[in-house]
Order: sequence, then C-alpha cells, then structure tokens
Amino acid sequence: MDRRIRGAALACVLLATSVATGCAAEPPTEPRRPAAPSRSVPATPSPRGEAGARAGVEAAYAKWDIEPLAAPPAPPDAKPVGLPAAGGQVPVISEIPTQEKIVFLTFDDGAEKDPEFVTMMRELKIPFTMFLTDSAISADYGYFGKLQALGDGVQNHTLTHPNLRTLGAAAQKQEICGQQTKLKDRYGIMPRLFRPPYGNWNEDTRAAAASCGVEAIVLWRESMQITNMQYQRGDKKLHPGDIVLAHFRGPSELKGTTMTEMTANLLRHIQEQGFTVARLEDYL
Ligand SMILES: [Zn+2]
Repeated sequence: MDRRIRGAALACVLLATSVATGCAAEPPTEPRRPAAPSRSVPATPSPRGEAGARAGVEAAYAKWDIEPLAAPPAPPDAKPVGLPAAGGQVPVISEIPTQEKIVFLTFDDGAEKDPEFVTMMRELKIPFTMFLTDSAISADYGYFGKLQALGDGVQNHTLTHPNLRTLGAAAQKQEICGQQTKLKDRYGIMPRLFRPPYGNWNEDTRAAAASCGVEAIVLWRESMQITNMQYQRGDKKLHPGDIVLAHFRGPSELKGTTMTEMTANLLRHIQEQGFTVARLEDYL
C-alpha cells in the first residue's frame, strides 16, 4: 500500500472517537451476521425487457444473499433542496427532505479497491455517491472510473484527508479546490458536492467550498461499521431522506470482512427497515 494511503487510513483509525467522525470506530462487541457469498456463486444472466431486468436484479440479490430492496421512486421533478444563489452560503446537509422511505448511500476515501464491489453494484444496480480523497485513490484512479461508468457520482473529499478545522482558510481552499481540479481532470465532471473529512468543518470551509464551485457540504445521519449501523438519533432507526456514510474499506480495516460483505450488511439494515436506496444527485 502506498504510504500516503496507509497514512490516510491510519488517520481514520486514530481519529475515530465520536459519531461525528467520518471514520468512526467499530464497536467491539457487535454480533456477526452470516457473510454474503461473494466469489463462488455464478452470475445469473438477465432476461430482456424491463420486467426481465427487474427479475435479473432480484436474481442478483439472491446471489448476494440479500432480500431485494424495493425499486426506488421516480426522481422528483424539482430537487427538494434549494441551492444558494451565487454568492450565497453553501448549505450543510445531513438528510434530504422527503416523505419517501428512501435513504442515500455514500462511500468515502477510496483506500479499498475491491473488484468484487464493482461486480456487486453493477448487478444490484444500487445508486451511490463516492466522496474521494486523492491520496487514497491515486494508486488506481481507473477503479473509480468503473464505478462512475455505472452512473455513480464522483464528489470531493479533499486531496489528503486533513482535519480542516486545524487548517487556515488558504490551506482549506487548496485541499478543496485542488481536489476539484484533480477529479475534473480524471473523471471529466466538476464535483458539485463536498464532504469534509471526519465531518469537521468551520466557516472557512464554507467559504472555501463556495469559492471552489461546491454547491453543498454533505454530512450524514448514519455511519455503517462492519455489521452494525451507527445512528445519530436516539431511536436508532432510519428516517426518510437520511444520508448514510460508508467507506471503501477492506479486510485489513474491517477485521477480515470484505467490502462486499460489509455492503451486504448495510443493504440488509436498509431492507429490514422497509427502506430502499435512491440517488443523492437526483435530490440535491
Ligand atoms: Zn474520509
């Protein structure tokens, strides 16, 4: 592993002290769930047509040992989150206003690059948003291009994953604008959304984000661990429109669990509560 990537991953571990962190620590005593079979079951070919496509997706859920999530509702005609006029303050968002039983998945950093995760998301057709850090992805930019090709969003999570509250305005701007440029050069689209590492931001972050062309700062309501979900609210339930944080993490960071097993656990939590997954960029 590249030293800078290892450093970023280590920082996540060392700084994981609260719900607010973007790299929350795994509680030590949670029960294990059965692992999803990720490598031994052959893919089921999709029949043709829309019904056939849905049948293909349901077969894919069976392959990954997950109860199927409902198809998400059609995206709203008008996005429910109003973005600021030019010169206005960048909003800081942890949930999307909606009555639908939908949540939004976000995967951060980019240290793990498991090809099985690409297969899984291609087969399940689950939309998600990537908040990418250059020092974590630079060893293999192409991996995230494969995920972008599935229709999933590439958004900004700084160049080197610092705690922005420890940096002055100019350094914050360099971290955010620098990554805007890198992501635009690599993936062809200027990011609209920004997530500060560890969820730590201040007014300098807002000003820097605005000056870099960011339209919204995106935080989260739930954080996926290995098998458990960490909730910010006391009722420990998903609420309509919640943004869920997960990470590109593999066995070395997940106590031997693979990224696809962690993702299967995440999707089971969502399915069990009667929710499904929608695309953040359709609402924000
Ligand atoms: Zn992060």
